This record gives sequence, structure tokens and C-alpha cells, in this order.
Amino acid sequence: MDLNDLHDLRDWLPRALGVAERWGGQFGPYETHDAHRVGPDAFDEAFERLAKRMDHNYPFFHPRYAGQMVKPPHPAAVVGYLTAMLFNPNNHAAEGGPATTEMEREAVASLAAMFGFDAHVGHLTTSGTMANLEALYVARQLHPDKGIAYSSECHYTHERMCHVLGVEGHRIPVDGHGRIDLDALEDALRTGRIGTVVVTTGTTGLGTVDPVHEVVAIARRHGVRVHVDAAYGGFYAILGRAGAEGFDPRPWRAIAECDSVVVDPHKHGLQPYGCGAVLFPDPRAGRHFAHDSPYTYFTDADLHLGEISLECSRAGAAASALWLTLELLPLTPDGFGSILAANRRAALRWADLITESADLELYQRPDLDIVTYFPATADGSLSAIDAASDRLLRDGMTAEADPVFLSVLRADADAFVRRHPGVVRDADAARIVRSVLIKPESEHYLPTLHARVSALAAHGRGAGAGARTGTRIRTL
Ligand SMILES: *Cc1c(COP(=O)(O)O)cnc(C)c1O
Repeated sequence: MDLNDLHDLRDWLPRALGVAERWGGQFGPYETHDAHRVGPDAFDEAFERLAKRMDHNYPFFHPRYAGQMVKPPHPAAVVGYLTAMLFNPNNHAAEGGPATTEMEREAVASLAAMFGFDAHVGHLTTSGTMANLEALYVARQLHPDKGIAYSSECHYTHERMCHVLGVEGHRIPVDGHGRIDLDALEDALRTGRIGTVVVTTGTTGLGTVDPVHEVVAIARRHGVRVHVDAAYGGFYAILGRAGAEGFDPRPWRAIAECDSVVVDPHKHGLQPYGCGAVLFPDPRAGRHFAHDSPYTYFTDADLHLGEISLECSRAGAAASALWLTLELLPLTPDGFGSILAANRRAALRWADLITESADLELYQRPDLDIVTYFPATADGSLSAIDAASDRLLRDGMTAEADPVFLSVLRADADAFVRRHPGVVRDADAARIVRSVLIKPESEHYLPTLHARVSALAAHGRGAGAGARTGTRIRTL
């Protein structure tokens, strides 16, 4: 049986059910209770209402959706998740789910190997935000009197988590490509007030890769730790460390020298939501989570996953889903890497097409698979670009025929002018258009996507500069 698209799932879902049925059968019959019994008609009717609700959605699976970093999980992840979910294991502790705890350890070891870690302690989390919170929590435990530095392009949750932890956050400016500014970083570290620096390998907005190798060198001179937020870009370490596809391997190889790293399997890792991961190359980091839970039995000689994490209950099904996916698509350049390579080829190719286009302008060249651009406008002013980007977003998603789904990103005026000195600076910022080409299907679809987006941009220009005020769309 194949397992490559939704259709194949029809064959696999009964097999997933069969696993739970077969296993459950050994415990003998028992009478189900009426307390939670629902009538078939009621179920039918409620389900129809659910089905109707789901019409209100965006087609994340389709390459005409080129907006945020969202795509459906791989069928293997669905089957892995469902199979384990029917048992509902809790990976807080081994006795909550012995099988899925093992799978989590193996999947996490694969992620650690992807980053070139020789040793590690780590676990899955419900999200990148939780994973970063854990890494910053360890940062605070190790340097309780010092702050945490992060770039102005880092994910917005770092600042929030510094508030949560009661740690002083230091915002470091970026260079003209959106990378952490090394001179500004060194100045900040010289004050002696910073204990940990956050670098990002693939920023959420622009997909920019910070020069991890250079940050590590500076940080070491000042006795400062380095945390890598690779929530979005982490899987690119597969290609990056190998120097494949024209990648500069240095930032990717330097991740192995850092103190912690976060990656989100629910972004590039083909997993359903509820799957982040945090890893420390020094297994002693586990001691910061020491707790004495009166609820947890100890049936396992190893540390329980719940003993090395801030969260308590976590879905064993998430571990099963990731484990099964990695059995089929290993974290090698030929396995998982071929998906990422296709995404990135599509992004670079689109950047070329946009550069040649009269209707669109490239904001900056992609490092990974995020393309940023804006419609060409008559006067080249920030306010016109802002209005045109908003119009392109709206016209694309409301088109009766041939819709396209994009996202917008706020670029402040200074950042814009550094990249496009000719722009007319009549506002503090402008929205630009952002497309995360997170699906390899984008590679084949690119000519169609480009033609459609160009046509919408040209049409929007023809429609005049009647600015509509838009709602902000936050980047995920
Ligand atoms: C998405 C993202 C996060 C937040 O992760 P969630 O899983 O959405 O909580 C953090 N950092 C970066 C760089 C991200 O792209």
C-alpha cells in the first residue's frame, strides 16, 4: 500500500485502528458505559455541522497557498499520530507511555544527530515557544544575574519569555540583510550584563540565517552562552551542514558548538501542530528540571522525559507521529533534504523571476524558502507600497476564480531604505508581501503562481492607489 497522499490514508486508517483493537483484545471483554453513549443520529448531525465549519478554511495543502509556514502533516505522521492516539499515551513519564517514550528518545536522538551533537539531553514540546522558554529558563538558571540578548528580527516570543522569566532582554539591531549585527552584539556583551545570546537560523519574517559561527566566536570571548532558535529553519541543517545546494556550511556546523537549540517538527518536519523540540548538547542541562513529583512512579532507570521538561503532560502520539515519519524520511540530504532542496530552489527561482518582473520587486534575496517582495508602484513611496501589498493580499484571497493566498510582513522604513535606497520615505513602515514556500509542490507550481501574483499586482496598479486600510496579519 502506498502512503503518499490523503487518498492512501483510506487504506491506512483501518490498519491504525486494527493495532489498537488487536492489542486491546487481550484484556478481555467488558461492558461499555451508557454515561458517554451518544446516539448515531446525534453524532451524524453534529459531524455534519463540523464538516460545514471546516469549509471556512485556507487551502494550506495547495501550492496556491503561499502565505504562512503552514502545511498539512505527512500521511505517515497522521497514521503515526492516530495509531498512538487511540492508546492516548502521556510522555510525561515512561509509565504514561512506555512505547512512545522510547520513540520520543529515538526521534530526539535523530534531531540531535541532525545538528551534529555528540551527546545531548532533550525532548519534544508542544511548540517552539515552549521549547524556547525551556532553553531560556536554563539560560537564567545558569546566569541568574544576567540578561538575554536577541536580535530585533528574532521571534517576538523571546521578549515575552524574558518577561515571564523575569530576565532583562537586550534587543540587538540587525544588518542590512536582517542578520544580528555583530559589532552591536559585541558592544552589548562588553557590558558584562548578558549571559546568553539567541541566534536564529531562519528568522520567521525573512528567513534570514544569523552567522552562528561568528556569534559563537564573539560569545566565547566574553564567556557568554549561545542559544539557537531554529524553530523554523532547523531542518535546513541537513543541507547546511553538508554544504549541499550551495549552502555556506559554517553557521549550520557551528550549531553543534552552541549551548541549546530549538526546532519545530510542526513546521518543516511534516508533523501536525503540537510538536516542537529543545536540545542541549550537554546532558547535565537536565539537572535544572529536577523536581519531586508525588504523582510520578519510577519504573525506568533513565530520567523520565517529564524530569527534564517544564511541561507535564505531553502527547505520546506526537512522538509516534514524528518517529514513523523519520523511519520513512530520514534526516539526510537524500531523505528529508530533498523536500527542503525543492522548497529552496523554488524560492530562489521565484526571486529571479521577481527580479526580472515589471510588476513585482524583490525585497531581499531568500536565504531559505521565504520570499519577500512587493508590487511595483507608480511613485515608489512606502505608503503606496503598503497599500499595494495589502491590496495584493486581499485581491488574491478573495478572487472568485484562481485565488492565491499570501501573507504580509511589516518592514520598517530604515530597513526598507537600506535595501531600496530609491524608495520614497513617506511613512514609518510599509507592509510587504511574504510567501513561505514550505511545500515542495511549489517548485512545479511556481510558473503558475508567479504569473498569477504578477497579474494581480499589475491589475492592482491599474486600479489606482485607492488605499484600503487593512487588518494586520501576524507572522506565525
Ligand atoms: C515559529 C517560530 C517560533 C515559535 O514557535 P511556535 O511553535 O509557533 O510556538 C519561534 N521562533 C521561530 C524562529 C519561529 O519561526
